[in-house]
Amino acid sequence: MTTIRRRLTVWYTVALAVTVLAFGTALYLERRQSSIRELDQRLSLEADLAHRWLSESYKVLGRIVTISGSTPSLDPGISAYLESVRDYLVVADTAGQVLALSEVTRTLSANALERLTAPLDTTSFAKHSGTLALGGPVGRVRYLAVPVQGAGPIIGGILVATPTRQAGFGPSDLLRSMLLIAPLILVGAGLVGYWLAGTSLRPVQGIMDEVEAISDGRSLHRRLAVPLSGDEMARLALTVNGMLARLEQSFGSLHRFTADASHELKTPLMVLRAGVERALVHPGTPPEILQSMDETLAQINQMAEMVESLLTLARADEGRAPLAVEPCDLRELVADVAETAGMLGESAGVTAEHSIPQGPVLLAVDPQRIREMLLNMVTNAIKYTPQGGTVALSLEDDDEAVTFSVRDTGIGIAAGDLPHIFERFWRADQARTRTSDRPGVGLGLAITKWIVEAHGGSITVQSRPGRGSSFTVRLPKARRPAG
Ligand code: ADP
Repeated sequence: MTTIRRRLTVWYTVALAVTVLAFGTALYLERRQSSIRELDQRLSLEADLAHRWLSESYKVLGRIVTISGSTPSLDPGISAYLESVRDYLVVADTAGQVLALSEVTRTLSANALERLTAPLDTTSFAKHSGTLALGGPVGRVRYLAVPVQGAGPIIGGILVATPTRQAGFGPSDLLRSMLLIAPLILVGAGLVGYWLAGTSLRPVQGIMDEVEAISDGRSLHRRLAVPLSGDEMARLALTVNGMLARLEQSFGSLHRFTADASHELKTPLMVLRAGVERALVHPGTPPEILQSMDETLAQINQMAEMVESLLTLARADEGRAPLAVEPCDLRELVADVAETAGMLGESAGVTAEHSIPQGPVLLAVDPQRIREMLLNMVTNAIKYTPQGGTVALSLEDDDEAVTFSVRDTGIGIAAGDLPHIFERFWRADQARTRTSDRPGVGLGLAITKWIVEAHGGSITVQSRPGRGSSFTVRLPKARRPAG
């Protein structure tokens, strides 16, 4: 979720950065063009005035250039007017020789002046404009060179120029402003984008939370709230609801089949058991037949146990295994199970211990189920503990919860097996290969887990292969048991 939100924010910011950059570049180019246009207009006006001044003067006076020695120059009266022009102005003869300069032009270094007059340095040229780099403090100038007609044979052309930085709001100012503003815009846009992405993804988060809550087969009857907006979220919720309905149907059929099959198997198994038991007590049965009957009875008992467990789980899945909750003193339950453990332990050569608090430990539970849960853990502990080992059952009570624990010094469970032990029909490899030593079908812990969770509790296990295992069940006092 966070990643999509971050990704959207990054994409949004990048898209905006590109847009701002493109927009800024376009604005910059446009502004530069229009600055140049403005400068060109000004230069054109100045050149026009100078041109007119020269041609009018020539028309009136008939001669405006004085040649002293070999250097021609504009008559002082004529050039005085041109000197006052505020931009660079050069009047040159037809060979490109300078005849007059405006006052600011005279402040230029010889080098800069040479570069400035270069566009006039030709006998004939057409009106043209461009940009020149004069260097030094002047920098770049925009110029306009105009050929002069009607002002006598000597005058060739006029050049007017002005530094490009003269433009009112120059492109470089714009660039600077953009560089200052763009980061602020992007940070703002990033924050807005993050908020927007969060807002638009919130309904998805809601749907995910709801779907997560429907994580097991028992919650499949629940449906997501469909937003009234009729948008993509509504469609998503409808799609998920459709899928849940189909899943519920399939799970339902599966549970019904398991429950029905287990139920139907119970009666023939009972008849079978009764028959074998009757045959066992029949006088005169040869000993070898008696032995095989005994084995048959053991298998029938295991099968009956499995069918009973399957039925319990199938009913639990269907929500048809309600808890008969009543206030109980859990010490009695534990003592009861400890007594059975003592008997089972004795025949298995395992010492069974138990510890319970002094005062009553009262909690509303289903006593039958809790007894079943404790018996499952205790019989496992005895089953998987070799002779001479110890199994300890304890009950602890604190303000928030009661805790049952069953510890053994048995064969332990490999770390890789731990995540599977609560799965249905799962048995560790040693348990499978030695079925005769350790009978079982792999449903006990699945039922135990269901009982714990139905009481709103949790079960944890710690184990070290060869050292023993410890199962801990914690039932909270605050939460009302489900069922
Ligand atoms: P099973 O009928 O095989 O005992 P369970 O569901 O009770 O089925 O247990 C599943 C598997 O977990 C067992 O087959 C065994 O491998 C392992 N297991 C359970 N309890 C213990 C224990 N106390 N010590 C070692 N292994 C255990």
